[in-house]
Amino acid sequence: MVTKYLFFTGGVVSSVGKGVTAAAVGLLLKERGFKVAVQKLDPYINVDPGTMSPYQHGEVFVLDDGAETDLDLGHYERFIDVRLNRVCNVTTGQVYAEVIAKERRGDYLGGTIQVIPHITNEIKHRIGAVTKTTGAEIVLVEVGGTVGDIESLPFLEALRQMRSELGRENTFAVHVTWLPYIGATDELKTKPTQHSVRELRSIGISPDMIVARADFPIEDSLCDKIALFCDVEKRAVIPMMTTRILYEVPLLIEQAGVADYILEKLGLEARRQPDWSAWERLVEEVRRPKPPLKIALVGKYVELHDAYISVREALKHAALAQGVELEILWVHSADLEKGKGWDVLESAAGIVVPGGFGSRGTEGKIQAAKYAREQKIPYLGLCLGMQVMVIDFARHVLGLENANSSEFDRSTPYPVIDLMLEQRAITDMGGTMRLGLYPCVLKPGTKAAEAYGAEQVEERHRHRFELNNNFRAALEKGGMVFSGLSPDGMLVEIAEVKDHPYMVGSQFHPEFLSRPMRPHPLFVGLIRAAKERAAR
Ligand code: GLN
Repeated sequence: MVTKYLFFTGGVVSSVGKGVTAAAVGLLLKERGFKVAVQKLDPYINVDPGTMSPYQHGEVFVLDDGAETDLDLGHYERFIDVRLNRVCNVTTGQVYAEVIAKERRGDYLGGTIQVIPHITNEIKHRIGAVTKTTGAEIVLVEVGGTVGDIESLPFLEALRQMRSELGRENTFAVHVTWLPYIGATDELKTKPTQHSVRELRSIGISPDMIVARADFPIEDSLCDKIALFCDVEKRAVIPMMTTRILYEVPLLIEQAGVADYILEKLGLEARRQPDWSAWERLVEEVRRPKPPLKIALVGKYVELHDAYISVREALKHAALAQGVELEILWVHSADLEKGKGWDVLESAAGIVVPGGFGSRGTEGKIQAAKYAREQKIPYLGLCLGMQVMVIDFARHVLGLENANSSEFDRSTPYPVIDLMLEQRAITDMGGTMRLGLYPCVLKPGTKAAEAYGAEQVEERHRHRFELNNNFRAALEKGGMVFSGLSPDGMLVEIAEVKDHPYMVGSQFHPEFLSRPMRPHPLFVGLIRAAKERAAR
């Protein structure tokens, strides 16, 4: 089958759920028997989000191949249950870096390098690479930002060219917009949508479908109006009111007839009937009143929940599987250092310390680990969360005063966490950590082995520092168990505390592989232990 392309652009404002919409549409097509992949085109000039502050960008989502990508890739993977690769996130920075490298090599044979055709060709080349590397029959391409942004113009121009080169039967453009609510007259407005579509048209792309998002019910007459003014069929105007339940979005989009319309326009026929029973059960489970369970998330970017989006989703998946209503208590680790926020922490049945970089707030995280250990509160440490757990243990169980990670204290007498050997010669910050999927051998009889029910697993990593093997024997003697090791035994991947209901820390990031239908075992382990504690 010739590859079909779906383009997703955003109008009016950003953050209206374009990524979730693309992910949900991808699932609808997968459910009909097609192999799909999703690609995000990000207009910023960074090569990848790996060097950006979480405050700027939210979480960095890591793929199997070690690509550091936009958090929308997390939505794609979670909804569609696929494993994507590094071509699935393209940035302006990557495109220019490649074109400039070619120019320096002399590949262009004296030509003048221009946005059209050189930059747009490179963009199209990268879109084409998705099918080549994933085998996808339908590629969904989401353009970051909002139509009208200067930065996204080359991307939109590339899509325009693809539409004329491949034909309308092979491409389909979805425009996701926002209908603002005017309180004074109690109505939703379509005018910004009309303007946004006009803007998109002026670039040469006429949308085939408009997904109109709003916080309030969208009357049929508004859809008529959008269809008329924006020149799309009424069937192709999809009203999407905000839902409290994220995983309901595919069901809502299904009910609106989105997939059937798209397949019809692309000249495709569904290969099988979609089966929504599992998703319906999931949504029912979300709705069902359940006993509450409070989990504290101790981080330093807690003001911006998007910085921990995969952790939050993984907790949600595990809580649903365990039949509890998750309440996340967001605790700022720097507050704990000042003696604040302890009451909140103390009200939690379980504690998660997620990943992080740099020393700000780490003492607070070490204190949270100490508290979890002493009070026997179920604890899950993710990457840095594992490292602070080891630091607390070294300081307060082994009595190694001022033990630390050399990331936070270069002159610590006890660098229980230290820079990995292969990291020592590296000076560049971007894309140089230990990244992506690595195997981990589990030690039978440990909490981790019990949670996974497996002997060996593969998990995604993003770190420079590791447990210092010189302290392994002492830590073990003191009551720490190294329940997951790299196959050569050289690297501690999972540590746990003996004689504790559940104190587990992983050097990797299990949150990236949690799925709504397949909650991650380490998160399930935490929720189960927290539930037992709350029931006491
Ligand atoms: N800063 C730590 C390291 O580089 C932890 C990284 C993380 O939490 N992702 O090893």
